[in-house]
Amino acid sequence: MEEPRKLYMVVPCYNEEEVLPETSRRLKEKYQSLIQRGLISGESRVVFVNDGSKDNTWQLICKLHESDPDFFSGIDLAHNAGHQNAVLAGLMTVKDLCDMAITMDADLQDDINTIDAMVEKYYEGNQVVYGVRSARDTDTFFKRFTAEGFYKFMKTMGADVVYNHADFRLMSSRVLQELAEFREVNLFLRGMVPLIGFKSCCVYYERAERFAGESKYPLKKMLAFAINGITSFSTKPLKLITGLGCLMSALSVVALAWAFIAKIGGFSEPGWSSTMCSIWLVGGLQLLCLGIIGEYIGKIYSEVKARPRYIIAEFKNKEK
Ligand code: UDP
Ligand code: MG
Repeated sequence: MEEPRKLYMVVPCYNEEEVLPETSRRLKEKYQSLIQRGLISGESRVVFVNDGSKDNTWQLICKLHESDPDFFSGIDLAHNAGHQNAVLAGLMTVKDLCDMAITMDADLQDDINTIDAMVEKYYEGNQVVYGVRSARDTDTFFKRFTAEGFYKFMKTMGADVVYNHADFRLMSSRVLQELAEFREVNLFLRGMVPLIGFKSCCVYYERAERFAGESKYPLKKMLAFAINGITSFSTKPLKLITGLGCLMSALSVVALAWAFIAKIGGFSEPGWSSTMCSIWLVGGLQLLCLGIIGEYIGKIYSEVKARPRYIIAEFKNKEK
């Protein structure tokens, strides 16, 4: 068999002190078995990215690194950059150090035992392996409803995403090099990775409940994430506006004709109510359209500034 390859895990952590000890223990166990079976190289590692946590997450990561410097590395971001940016910070840091990288949440919702299948798929020649949730039994009804609606809505809005795949995926270093060329600031990784292309496949797993602690993705963040995903990947809303504009124009011609006929026929009423209605309707539509256009202008604004997407304060990593 060919030489086993180096696998790096990238794990974003925001206030995860409750789950980190268990996550690191389980990952270590998994790696040991993978190394023993000759699936990955002994130089493989786990890299925790501390995303500006307010609790003791970074202290815990430092302890893990000190106790096992050949296995645990840590990246400390200077401030809370958000999940997507934290993942990217980790990936860009490890892209030249590993042969493949897997991104996974810290809360053990993604099944660690799926890693075996992911790595096997990598050796079969896949450059990207998507972890796809086969069931959502452990999610609350609300989470399931909103999340599945999100994937369907993204599809109809023209963004190419893998259904029920979040950010649990394996990428080869080749793909990471290409990902580095994507300069956008409004990150939506699950839309960007399919754009890169290469041979890819899916592995299926059942999503567990969060091991401990609370979700760091409240409804507000989830909504912001969905809106970002659509406006970063699709111009369909703009086209819808155009369609709406055409429809309104057509309707107004009909209305005009009717008003004219009514006038000539002499059966027009003082049209106070219809005037009020149209003012409200047209005003509302205009505001809606302006809002959507504003979304895109906001995007242009932040892309043009081209600010760094994350800032690494410290990288604890022992050279081998
Ligand atoms: N996370 C992060 N920065 C944030 C919010 C979340 O790095 O600002 C991390 C978090 O620590 C976890 C992952 O992103 O590892 C997913 O968050 P969570 O499990 O809370 O989201 P959910 O599974 O509820 O959607
Ligand atoms: Mg979670």
